[in-house]
Amino acid sequence: MNTNHTKITFPHNAGFSSLQKRNTVLITDENIYALHSKKFKNYQTIVLKAGEQYKIQPTVDNIIEQLIDSGANKTTTLIGVGGGVVTDITGYVASIYMRGINFGFVPTTLLALVDASIGGKNGIDVGPYKNMIGTINQPEFILHDYSFLTTLPKVEWQNGFAEIIKHACIKDASMFNELQSHSVAYYQKKKQLLYVLIEKNAILKTTIVAKDVNENGERKLLNFGHTLGHALENQYCLSHGHAISIGMSFACELSEKIWGFKQTNSVIGLLQQYELPTRMSFDKEKVFNVLKMDKKSEINAIKYILLKKIGKGIITEIDLREIENFLASY
Ligand code: ADP
Ligand code: ZN
Repeated sequence: MNTNHTKITFPHNAGFSSLQKRNTVLITDENIYALHSKKFKNYQTIVLKAGEQYKIQPTVDNIIEQLIDSGANKTTTLIGVGGGVVTDITGYVASIYMRGINFGFVPTTLLALVDASIGGKNGIDVGPYKNMIGTINQPEFILHDYSFLTTLPKVEWQNGFAEIIKHACIKDASMFNELQSHSVAYYQKKKQLLYVLIEKNAILKTTIVAKDVNENGERKLLNFGHTLGHALENQYCLSHGHAISIGMSFACELSEKIWGFKQTNSVIGLLQQYELPTRMSFDKEKVFNVLKMDKKSEINAIKYILLKKIGKGIITEIDLREIENFLASY
């Protein structure tokens, strides 16, 4: 299915209860299930253990066994109700079960609403390598039901804002300005503004993906902060938002060196304003070794995402040795 056809239903149209019950299997995690158990009543539901450490093959095998046991077939629709981990696994299982069945998402974290549920990338981790195995396959639908956000823990708000700030940095200077005049607490209070912000970000990502589903060009911009971020994330047990926030700060400094980027302080200031870390000490050699295995790397070079200015990301091929040296002096 083509990305252009993935329909995002915003909540003023329909809520969770509009999902069909017959021939539908919901997949969620234990936290969401416990906090929103009423919503799952009368749906066949597979409940996973929560957390990125379970985004692995044994979880996939377990889901497949449950689907076989319950008689799920080609006409079954799988619906992932959760954050990025749940939507990634659901999309992956649906893509391989009986060579592919229909699937949809109800993203329940800010991060999944603005980023992870969109774009059709799904898959699992292998050791320290994030998303090493997977497919690109678009969901039939994405349904936004913001009532899930009422129970979202603080760190998950920070994770979501890291991706929102990423979008602003690579594509939308006016959104960057808007974010500068607010805070996490402000958006939590001003719900309508939050919903507008979510929809704006969902559309921004959908538009980029629609132009470049297979990530040959423009879509790579969405990896801003993610090359170093991914290398740090699993090795140091950081949350995704924290890891990419440090990755974005690093990429800003690299942008200064390569493109004469002059707004590093503004980006770092905004990340801090949204309660995100911008620097940490780490084992440079160990991190470099994971970073160079990043799936975005060519043989001796990496396509690094840098900024020319706020709102204008640029794909830049950088020699691995140059990155290694810059990392060593960082
Ligand atoms: P993401 O990849 O979107 O950050 P995850 O799937 O890793 O999301 O979920 C992050 C954590 O937040 C998990 O522990 C999950 O159980 C929890 N979670 C997801 N949605 C909600 C929600 N609406 N309320 C409370 N906790 C949630
Ligand atoms: Zn991300």
